[in-house]
Amino acid sequence: MKILKIDHLGIAVNSIEDGKSFWTDVLGLNFQGSETVTEQKVTTAFFPVGESEVELLESTAPDGPIARYIEKKGQGIQHIAFRVDNIENALAELKEKGIQLIDEKPRIGAGGAKIAFLHPKATSGVLVELCER
Ligand code: ZN
Repeated sequence: MKILKIDHLGIAVNSIEDGKSFWTDVLGLNFQGSETVTEQKVTTAFFPVGESEVELLESTAPDGPIARYIEKKGQGIQHIAFRVDNIENALAELKEKGIQLIDEKPRIGAGGAKIAFLHPKATSGVLVELCER
């Protein structure tokens, strides 16, 4: 498995509209637009930072994974995404090492990236996403 870089930090917010001014007006990052991933009941907004990005996540439904996360833990960093060169190979390697996966096969996330989540039980509590784009 080859990790290329931190692709993005996923941050759960109640509202992208309310949350984005800190990242743009205060930190001066560019708001690169938003995209709704219907299947995940989430709207994402990206703010590039060098070679990585901040990704704000807003739930589109009260029973969506981001809404449930905020209910339990409040707003804040929800996941860290690493870009890999080959996600299928990475998942096969992790499986072989006995790492608990949420997604055994990649699915399509925002921007058409192939993504898969590792279970926080296997990572000392951090929700780790792998992505390939
Ligand atoms: Zn993500």
